[in-house]
Amino acid sequence: MRTLAKLAALAWVAAASAHAQDAIKPGVDYHSFSNVSEFRVKHVSLDLDVSFKTKTLNGHADLTVLRENPTARVLVLDSRDLDIRSVSLVAPGGTATPLTFRFGDEKKFLGRPLNIDMPAASPPPVASAGKRFAAAESVIRIDYSSQPQASGLQWLTPAQTNGKKLPYLFSQSESVHARSWIPLQDSPQVRVTYDATIRVPKGLVAVMSAAHGAVGKPDAKGLVAYRFEMHEAIPSYLIAIAVGDITFRAISPRTGVYAEPGVIDAAAAEFSDLERMVAACETLFGPYRWGRYDILILPPSAPYGGMENPRLSFITPTVIAGDKSLVSLIAHELAHSWSGNLVTNATWRDFWLNEGFTVYLERRIVETLYGARRERMEDVLGVQSLRGELADADPAHQQLAVDLRNDDPDDGVTDIAYEKGKLFLQFLENRFGRDELQKFLRSYFDHFAFQSIYTEQFLDYLRANLLPKKPGAVTEAQIQEWVYGPGLPTYAVFPADDVFAPVDAARKAWLAGTLNTASLPTREWSTQEWLQFLNNLPADLPRDRVADLDKAFALSKSRNAEIAMAWFLVAIRADYDPAYADVQRYLLTIGRRKLVRPLYEALMKTPKGAALARATYSQARPGYHPITATAIDLIVQPKKN
Ligand SMILES: [Zn+2]
Repeated sequence: MRTLAKLAALAWVAAASAHAQDAIKPGVDYHSFSNVSEFRVKHVSLDLDVSFKTKTLNGHADLTVLRENPTARVLVLDSRDLDIRSVSLVAPGGTATPLTFRFGDEKKFLGRPLNIDMPAASPPPVASAGKRFAAAESVIRIDYSSQPQASGLQWLTPAQTNGKKLPYLFSQSESVHARSWIPLQDSPQVRVTYDATIRVPKGLVAVMSAAHGAVGKPDAKGLVAYRFEMHEAIPSYLIAIAVGDITFRAISPRTGVYAEPGVIDAAAAEFSDLERMVAACETLFGPYRWGRYDILILPPSAPYGGMENPRLSFITPTVIAGDKSLVSLIAHELAHSWSGNLVTNATWRDFWLNEGFTVYLERRIVETLYGARRERMEDVLGVQSLRGELADADPAHQQLAVDLRNDDPDDGVTDIAYEKGKLFLQFLENRFGRDELQKFLRSYFDHFAFQSIYTEQFLDYLRANLLPKKPGAVTEAQIQEWVYGPGLPTYAVFPADDVFAPVDAARKAWLAGTLNTASLPTREWSTQEWLQFLNNLPADLPRDRVADLDKAFALSKSRNAEIAMAWFLVAIRADYDPAYADVQRYLLTIGRRKLVRPLYEALMKTPKGAALARATYSQARPGYHPITATAIDLIVQPKKN
C-alpha cells in the first residue's frame, strides 16, 4: 500500500518538472536497449584474444540467458561499435545452432540494439554431460570483435606508459561502455557472474575484476592465457580488464598493489594503509564480502580518479603525492565495496545511491585513519566544490534523483550526486545521531546485498527502518526536497569551516600586505590547506603577486597533481605566462577529466589562452581516454553545424 501511494506522489513530482516529456518511471533504465523483463542474462563467459596490433579484442562471449517471459522471441542486447560475426545457440552437449540477428538504429550515447531471434521456449531441461541447466535457461554464443575506437577501452602506446617499452590496455565500463567491448544487457539492474579466458602477448600480464586463476604457457601464436572467475553477481559496469607490464606487491594477506615496475615502490609506500582501511570499513559497515581487495595503478591517462572495479579498484597515479595526502580516493573506491558494488544503483538516475553514500563512507574512513581535522577539511572542500557546480548547473539537473533521459549518463558524474548526496546523509546523521545512522546503514547493506535498487526503494526502506526511530525528526516534505528538489535545503547541515581559519587568516593578511610572501606559514600546510588557500584567492589577483607566490614556492613545478591544478587556474586567470609551459606539460601527461577540464575551460576564456588550449589539445587528444576527449571536445573544438 505504501509503495503505491508513494509512486503516485512521485509521478506528480516528475510531471511538475520542467520536462515536457512523459513522467519518468522509477526503476526503468532509459540507457539500455535490453528487454530485461523478457530475458535476463545470468552469466557471461568470455574467451578473448587481445591484439595490440589491431587494437581489438577478438573471440566470443557465451551468455547464459534466462527466459522470463515464455512467449518472448527476440533477445535485445546492448552493443556499441562491435563487429558481430555470428550468433548461435549452444546446446548442453556443445552443438551450436546458428541464430539470426540484426542491429537496430544507432542512438546518441547508447550505441545500437543487437536483436537476436530466439527459438520458441524449449521443453523442460535435460541434464547432460554432468551440466545442469535451469528451467528456461539457454546459452547464446556471440562471435565478435571490438573496434579500435571502443569507448570503454583505451589502448596506450609504449610511449604513454611509465616503462615506455610495452603497450597497455585498460577498460572503463561505467556508465554505459561495457557494451563497447562485450555484447550484453548493459544495465546496472542486471547482475551477472562472469568468467574469462584472456590471451595476451607473451611478456604482458592480464588482470580483471575477478578472482585470478591459472596462467597458461605461451601457445603457437605466442599468446599466454589468463583465467578469471567472478562468483558474485555484479552489474556489467563493474566488468573490467587491464593488460600491460604489471607487477604485484602485497600489503597484507588480502590486500596489495598492482602497478608498472617503475611505479610499484612509490605506490606501495603511498597506499601502505590499505589493510587498515579495509579493517576500518568492516568495523563501521559490516564484513567485506569480496575476498581480496587490491588496487591497480593505471597510467596517467586514466579518465577518472578511480574506478571501484570489484576486488581490484583501478586508480589514477595522480593521487601518488608522496605524503598520503590524497589517499581519500582509495577510501572512496574501497567504500564502494559496500555502497555501489554490494547495493547498486538500478539506473543512472539513482547514481547518487552509489556516490552520495560512498562519499559519506569515505569521510568516515578518513576520520578513523587520519583524524577528524583532515576529514573536516575534505568536507569543507567538497561543499565548496558543490556550491561552484550548483552555481552553473541547470536547476533541472540539481536533483539527487536526476532525470538523465536525454543525456549521456557520464554527465551525471557531478558533485550533486557525490557531495549533495553526502550532505543528505549528513543531515540524517544530524537528526538521528551517528550510532543510529550507522546501524541503519549496516542493515541497509545487509538487506539489499547483491541487489540493484532505485531511489524509491531506498526511500521506502528509510521510512520503514530509520524514520520511526525518532518520529518527527525528519518530515516527508524534507525528504522530498532533498531528493527531488534543486539546490540545497536551507536546513542542510554544513561542516564548520573553522578548520581552515588559520589558512584564511594568512591569505587575508597576505592580500592586505601585512604578511609578506616568505612569511606565509606554508611549511605546515597539508594538501587540503594549500587547496583552500589557492581556491579562494581573488579572481583579479595581480600578476606580480602571482609571480611572488611562484618564486617563493615553485608552484608551477609542484609534483602534487591537485595543488598544481589549483595553482594553474590562478596562473591562467592572471595571464602569468611563465607557468604556461608547465600547464602544457601537465595537460600532455595527465588525462584525468576532473583535473584537465577546468584548465581547458579557463584557457578558453581569452584569445591567447584559447590558442594555447587548441595547440596543446591537438597534441594531447590522441593520448586522452575517449571519456576525457568527449568532454574536452565540447570545450575546445569549435561547434560544427
Ligand atoms: Zn565513486
